[in-house]
Amino acid sequence: MAKIVLENVDKVYSGGVKAVDNLNLEIADGEFMVLVGPSGCGKSTALRMIAGLEEISDGTLSIGDKVVNDLPPKNRDIAMVFQNYALYPHMTVEQNLAFGLKLRKTPKPEIERRVKEAAAMLGLEPYLKRKPAALSGGQRQRVAMGRAIVREPQAFLMDEPLSNLDAKLRVQMRASLNQLHERLGVTTVYVTHDQIEAMTLGDRVAVLRDGRLQQVDTPKNLFDHP
Ligand code: ADP
Ligand code: ADP
Repeated sequence: MAKIVLENVDKVYSGGVKAVDNLNLEIADGEFMVLVGPSGCGKSTALRMIAGLEEISDGTLSIGDKVVNDLPPKNRDIAMVFQNYALYPHMTVEQNLAFGLKLRKTPKPEIERRVKEAAAMLGLEPYLKRKPAALSGGQRQRVAMGRAIVREPQAFLMDEPLSNLDAKLRVQMRASLNQLHERLGVTTVYVTHDQIEAMTLGDRVAVLRDGRLQQVDTPKNLFDHP
C-alpha cells in the first residue's frame, strides 16, 4: 500500500492539447479514490500518468514517498485493470491468474497460494479450469481483477472496468469491488464517467472538468450538497 501524490501535474499532448492542467491531488494510503467527469476531461490521462504509461509534462508525481516521474511502469509496483479484459484466450482462468507471477519467477507454492486466495475472493473457484470464451462478461472482468490482485501491488488503477457490463452485472460488481477494497485495503484509483459509480464506490471523489480539478470530497458531501 502506498499513498499517491500529484503536485502541479500538467499533461500537454504533442498536438498541443492540455489534457491535465495543474492537478493537485493526494490519495491516502489505502484510500479508494474515484476520478469522475465527462468524456475528455482528462481522467484517463491522469490515471495513465500514475501508471507510467504516459509521460508527465510538468509537476511531480510520487507513489509511497518516492518521486516516480521518470520511473517505468514495471518499477512502479502498481496493477491496472482496463475495460477490455485482455485475458489470454488459450489459457484457463487458473493459468491466466498465474501467468504474470510465472513471468516474474514467483515460486510455485506462492503462485498457488495467491491464485487460490484471489479465486476465493472473487468467486472464481468453479471456473478455474475454463477458458475465457466460456465465461460471462462479469466473470471475465473478475479474472482481469484477479490478475491484478495476485500481484499484491502497492496500488490498483482501474479505467472504467465495468463499462462493458450490463446494468445488473454492474450492480453486482460494484458490491464486489467495495468488498474487495475492504478486505485488501489497497490504495485504489478508479476512473469513471458514471455518477452512480462515483456515488457508491469511493472513499472520496475527485471531479475533473477540462483537465482541471473542480472538487474533491466524500461522495456523501458531494452528492448531498452539490
Ligand atoms: P477522459 O478519460 O476524461 O475521457 P482523456 O484523458 O482520454 O479524457 O483525454 C483528455 C483530452 O486529451 C481530450 O481532449 C483528448 O482528446 C486528449 N487526448 C487524449 N489522448 C490523447 C493523445 N494520445 N494525443 C492527443 N490528445 C489526446
Ligand atoms: P500481468 O501480471 O498483468 O499478467 P504481465 O506480466 O503481462 O502482466 O506484464 C508485463 C509487463 O507490464 C510487466 O513488466 C509488468 O510490470 C507491466 N505491467 C503489467 N500490468 C501493468 C499495468 N496494468 N500497468 C502498468 N504496467 C503493467
